[in-house]
Amino acid sequence: MSNNISISSKLPAGSTNIFTIMSKLATEHKAINLGQGFPDFECDEKLKKLVSKYVTEGKNQYCPMAGLPKLNQTLSTKMERLYGMPINPDTQICITAGATQALYTAIMAFVHSGDEVIIFEPAYDCYTPQVQLAGGTVKPYQMTYPDYEIDWNRVKDMVNDKTRMIVINTPHNPSGTILTKTDMQSLENIVKDTNIIVLSDEVYEHLIYDGEEHQSVMRFPTLFNQSMAVFSFGKTLHATGWKMGYVVGPEYLINEFKTVHQWNVFCTNSFVQFAIADYLVEPKNYEYLPSFFEKKRDTMNSLLSETPLIPKVAKGTYFQAYSYEEVSSLPDLEFAKYLTSEIGVAVIPMSPFYTNPPGDKVIRLCFAKEEKTIEAAAERLMKLRG
Ligand code: PMP
Ligand code: GLN
Repeated sequence: MSNNISISSKLPAGSTNIFTIMSKLATEHKAINLGQGFPDFECDEKLKKLVSKYVTEGKNQYCPMAGLPKLNQTLSTKMERLYGMPINPDTQICITAGATQALYTAIMAFVHSGDEVIIFEPAYDCYTPQVQLAGGTVKPYQMTYPDYEIDWNRVKDMVNDKTRMIVINTPHNPSGTILTKTDMQSLENIVKDTNIIVLSDEVYEHLIYDGEEHQSVMRFPTLFNQSMAVFSFGKTLHATGWKMGYVVGPEYLINEFKTVHQWNVFCTNSFVQFAIADYLVEPKNYEYLPSFFEKKRDTMNSLLSETPLIPKVAKGTYFQAYSYEEVSSLPDLEFAKYLTSEIGVAVIPMSPFYTNPPGDKVIRLCFAKEEKTIEAAAERLMKLRG
């Protein structure tokens, strides 16, 4: 065989993402997987029946590039109801193959070589490589345990003529924090009268607790005029494997997004779009989510309170950050591997979500699990009491 041809990697740092690493390790060690974020329970039977119905009825061919009109209408009605922003279903929404593809396409559409993108770290792992693929430069803003707060004056100081985009994520994965109305107003003040686009990852919009309200960019008209908000049906419907999502924004941004989207994926599968269009018409099919997940968070909190892990109580998402400083001085990746192989519970370390990890002794646990799964994991974690 001849030698391999020479290639120049667009992502020379390489590396397999942390979710793949920890899930593989969980399988190898038969550990309870509280690492990668996915529910271990089924989605609603009614939704499954709708999907089967539309496959059987033959809704199996291409649908319009930006989404099935009926689904875009359902989403437009839902968003106006929740956030008070009228969204034109024909011109302001594009259905995507999950939030990941929406983020990728938005970044490809707007970030040029040499542009700077401000990212708040710890950050969901796909943002940085996507910016790098677009030829942009990531400017990380470091948030640290336990508050993970943003000082907007510092953000303002990071902005310059090269700043093309600011990526926000509320509720925030992996810290479980949320942005407040004041945070959003500060952001609005920074970006107004600039050419900066805000890419707002809102995939956990419905997973918000303690009576808090989700602060979507759609609640802030000036901010929304230069924003794109990204959503995932995987989170809202307990169906992460479907990889379906959407993006919403002002028409001029969505037009540019669609220009790239058509060459990237064109359209996403049609029968699931028909099913979701029917399902999300009914507010009760998403209004139950905050209390449903808050109960799971509280179950995890009360069971793990017997262990030496210290929680940063999640205000949103289905993740909770825990400090293990009273248990071990191992670096977080080593500690996560130890928990998986020796204690039998897989978790996610925080450091892979940073460009320059601050060395916090913090891990992330997922509580989108059946009560019996959380109980079994808690029982194993009791061993940490020594
Ligand atoms: N953003 C965040 C903050 C996420 O946690 C995830 C995955 N759970 C995504 C984006 C990607 O969502 P999807 O699986 O729909 O691509
Ligand atoms: N979003 C999920 C998490 O944060 C994982 C997604 C993935 O495996 N790429 O755990």
